[in-house]
Amino acid sequence: MPELPEVEAIARTLRPLVRGQTIRRCQVLHSIAVRPQSPAELRRGAEGQRIEGVERRGKYLLWRLGRGCLLMHFKLDGQLIWFDKPETQGHIDVALQLNAGTLGFVDRRHFGRVRWRAHPDESPEIRALGVDPISPRFTPAQLQALLSAARRPVKLLLMDQTRIAGLGNIYSNEVLWHARLDPRRRADRLTSREARRLHKAIVNVLRRALKYCLHPAPNFRDPAWWFQGLEKILRVYGREGEACRRCAGRIRRIEQGGRTSYFCPGCQR
Ligand SMILES: [Zn+2]
Repeated sequence: MPELPEVEAIARTLRPLVRGQTIRRCQVLHSIAVRPQSPAELRRGAEGQRIEGVERRGKYLLWRLGRGCLLMHFKLDGQLIWFDKPETQGHIDVALQLNAGTLGFVDRRHFGRVRWRAHPDESPEIRALGVDPISPRFTPAQLQALLSAARRPVKLLLMDQTRIAGLGNIYSNEVLWHARLDPRRRADRLTSREARRLHKAIVNVLRRALKYCLHPAPNFRDPAWWFQGLEKILRVYGREGEACRRCAGRIRRIEQGGRTSYFCPGCQR
C-alpha cells in the first residue's frame, strides 16, 4: 500500500507531466471507485478543468484543478497507469484523458477511491489529517505532545492519520525498529529521550524511503513497475522468524488494531 514516501514520489513525478494540461474527458468505468459520489458528479467536476498542480496530503494525492480538486487514495492496490492513447482497454476504473495521453486509475480490488471536491483544503478528508511528518512543522516537541495525549500503544498512534498523516503499517513497523521501541509500549509512557529517538526515526525512515522511491523515478507507463523492489529497504516488516539485522534476535509478529506488527523482542524495548 502506498504510504507517504510513495505518494510523495507520485506527486513529484506526475506534477511536471500533467501541470497545465486540461482534463478533456473523465470516464468512470467502475463506479465503485468513486463512491460515495456518482460518476456524473466526478465527471462534471473534472471535465474541462485545467490541472494547476499535483500535491500530497497524508496518503492522498491531491490534483488542484482550475475549479475544485481531485482526491485519489490508493488504499491497498490502487495504481496509476499512463497510456499514450485514449485508452479504456483492460481494467481501468477511472480514465482521465489529457492532452498528452490518458491516465488510468486502476484498482482490481476496488478499495481505492477517486473523488471530486469543490474546496481542496476544506474537504473533510483533508481537514481530518494530522501533522505531516516530513514538513518542518513536525518537531520533537510536537511529537512529544501527541505521545503525551495518547494512552494507546505507540504503534496505533503512529498509524492514526488524524494525528500524524502519511505513516501506514509498513513504515510504522520500520520506524519503531529504528527507534528500538516495542510497538506495544503505551505512547504516554515513553520517556522524552525515547520520544526524541522516535522523532528522528520517523523523519529518517520516511526521507530514506522517499529518496528510494524517486531513484529511479516512478514509471507510470509500466504497469508492472509500481514500487516493486521497495522491500529491499525494509528491516523488520514481513520478516517474522528471521534474524534481527541489529541483534540477531528472532523477529516476532503480532496483531494490533487489526493490523500486523513485526518487531524484535531482543532490541525493541
Ligand atoms: Zn533485534
